[in-house]
Amino acid sequence: MAWPTSRGAPGAPPARPSLERTVLPDLRTRPVTELPGVGPKVAAALGELGVGSLADLVSHYPARHEDLSNVKTIAELRVGEKATVVGRVVGLRGVGRPVRGRAPGLSVQLYDGTGYIPAVVWGRGWLANQLVPDTRVLVSGEVQRRYGIQLAARSVEIVDDPETDGDNAHAGRFVPVYPSNSGINARRLRTLIHRALDEVGRLLDPLPAEVVARQGLPSLHDAVHEVHFPTSRGHLNRAMRRLIFHELFVLQTGLAARKARVEASETGRSHRGDGGLLNPYVKGLPFGLTGAQERVIEETLADLRSERPMRRLVQGDVGSGKTVVAVAALLSVVEAGGQGALMAPTEVLAEQHYLSISGALAELPVNVVLLTGSQTAAERREALEAVKGGEAHVVVGTHALIQKGVEFRDLALVVVDEQHRFGVGQRTVFKEKGVTPDTLVMTATPIPRTLSLTLYGDLEVSVIDELPPGRQPVETEMVAASEREGAYEAVREELAAGRQAYVICPLVEESEALEDVRAAEELHEELSGEVYPDRRVGLLHGRMAAQEKREVMGAFRAGEIEVLVATTVVEVGVDVPNASAIVIEGAERFGLSQLHQLRGRVCRGLHPPKCFLVADPKTEDSRERLEALCEHQDGFKLSEVDLAIRGEGTLFGARQSGIPDLKVAKLLRDIEVLVEARREAFDLVAGDPRLRSPAHRPLRREVRELLGADVEWLFRE
Ligand code: ADP
Ligand code: MG
Repeated sequence: MAWPTSRGAPGAPPARPSLERTVLPDLRTRPVTELPGVGPKVAAALGELGVGSLADLVSHYPARHEDLSNVKTIAELRVGEKATVVGRVVGLRGVGRPVRGRAPGLSVQLYDGTGYIPAVVWGRGWLANQLVPDTRVLVSGEVQRRYGIQLAARSVEIVDDPETDGDNAHAGRFVPVYPSNSGINARRLRTLIHRALDEVGRLLDPLPAEVVARQGLPSLHDAVHEVHFPTSRGHLNRAMRRLIFHELFVLQTGLAARKARVEASETGRSHRGDGGLLNPYVKGLPFGLTGAQERVIEETLADLRSERPMRRLVQGDVGSGKTVVAVAALLSVVEAGGQGALMAPTEVLAEQHYLSISGALAELPVNVVLLTGSQTAAERREALEAVKGGEAHVVVGTHALIQKGVEFRDLALVVVDEQHRFGVGQRTVFKEKGVTPDTLVMTATPIPRTLSLTLYGDLEVSVIDELPPGRQPVETEMVAASEREGAYEAVREELAAGRQAYVICPLVEESEALEDVRAAEELHEELSGEVYPDRRVGLLHGRMAAQEKREVMGAFRAGEIEVLVATTVVEVGVDVPNASAIVIEGAERFGLSQLHQLRGRVCRGLHPPKCFLVADPKTEDSRERLEALCEHQDGFKLSEVDLAIRGEGTLFGARQSGIPDLKVAKLLRDIEVLVEARREAFDLVAGDPRLRSPAHRPLRREVRELLGADVEWLFRE
């Protein structure tokens, strides 16, 4: 078979007449079995790889490309080095003591023209079926001396073999390595992909030609071909960039269109406060605002004054003073005659906000009410009436705020605190009730700014990038469980100096909430009985009655409780400035951002705060996480470290934010491309918000492919 029929170098004229032009979405309805030679067995193997349609097949991109010019010849290999070789299989036998008649390892004899070497591979028995003589393989591993020289293979990949495909001109140095499995090998896969590309003809480029030209990118057709059949590193890189840009551009177009629609379909109201409440509030604060707080408040007030509904995300590290921004915004809408709501993820935090805000506003004619799930029927009825009648100006609560039966007289602003703790769906609930209040969401989960633009593509972002003056870094130390007495001793000194401390219980799986309570009670008993018999030790956990929780927090705030043993109910937002030490038991079980939040409980006072991570990390990752925490104070830095350790798929609840799985783009790695794609996408949508122009139709279909139900409205009417 000859490869090059439908291949052209990027920029080269199409190798096929443009009569047959296909859009990728069309190919989704064509099963792989349409291809000659694909029967049920091959189709099943492809299915295991997630490939069902022709579209899946042509976009089953290589996981990476191996540069064969870095490969060593067998004759060059030296004992002790790690190396990659490409050779042909000339023999195969099982090694190791057989288990149920099967050898656990394989020894593959390789020949590459310069010499022979056995490559030994363990635990991948199924390779035996594929490593038939003459198969070309790429093997990486360490060269060892055992009974002779051998290559201890870390990876074995069957590489496609252009030579035997009669295409010597393209016996390229770049070999695509495909995600494959036991049912189908890479070579077969590549043959099928080639056949599919031939079958479908010229791929229509859904991206506007001007955008492609401006970005200096090859067409989709050329890029797809080049990625599967690379001709040179340069072309390959351009092709990859094209596919990454493509994916991000389609995503951003969807987000831009959604944003444009929301803005067009909702009429917001202008809330123009006169400063009658805000000014005295700010003057009455025991501190001056930081520059960052002032700026973010100004950005927020400008949004409130505008006719458009506000949708703003305020990001600020733990302790950066987000509450003040929230209160400023709430006061501003109250001045203008509306009501404001502040929603917190936990009852403990809602209560705290209620107490501190009503305290700070005591001298002002502002009525603050609390609404939580655990209020008595009478309390609740009273609160609901005040909310409905409009006597309540500011309503502070948990998600109870958005439950049925809560009616506002004139809800103008919703502030969602610690947004990352809520599901994304909750952001929209207020809207479904027929009002479109302004929304301000606040989060401490540090996300690099450009990334947050993607995750929250339809939000404006403000960043509080400055901590209040005088904040001291939290001295953070890791201690082994067997040496926790040292941490307790250090806490004893803090207590002796009149300060307070938290001791956080190890995290127990949520499903075992009862055990959680038992563990907390045991720890409380130990601390109050043996460790600090002369101190007042309190206990706080999620299963306690609301009234009880309120009393414990009140006593801790008042200094009557000196040591608070708590579960993660204090994780977010809790603010007791006199607390200067925190001991986190079983720290290895917490996530990095959770630990950073917990540590944030003690960064607010004036005394040099201390944090002890009691942990016996069992894995390298978990040790790295804890060490990062000891080293860095900055939440943004920590999120980068976390990202590096965990990989980005797991972070930020990307799924939860409604961002689809991306196939080729990696948000962090490709940030520059992302910024370009976003700019182009927003420009395009500004000119054609509903992607109605005939030239944008193919793009519109791709957006639908990627974002699904989220953008169905693009196709109605
Ligand atoms: P977070 O951003 O974590 O929600 P908070 O709003 O709870 O932070 O503020 C943390 C602490 O810092 C509070 O005790 C608050 O009173 C105090 N604070 C806020 N702004 C300032 C400031 N500009 N100067 C000094 N202290 C401040
Ligand atoms: Mg807060």
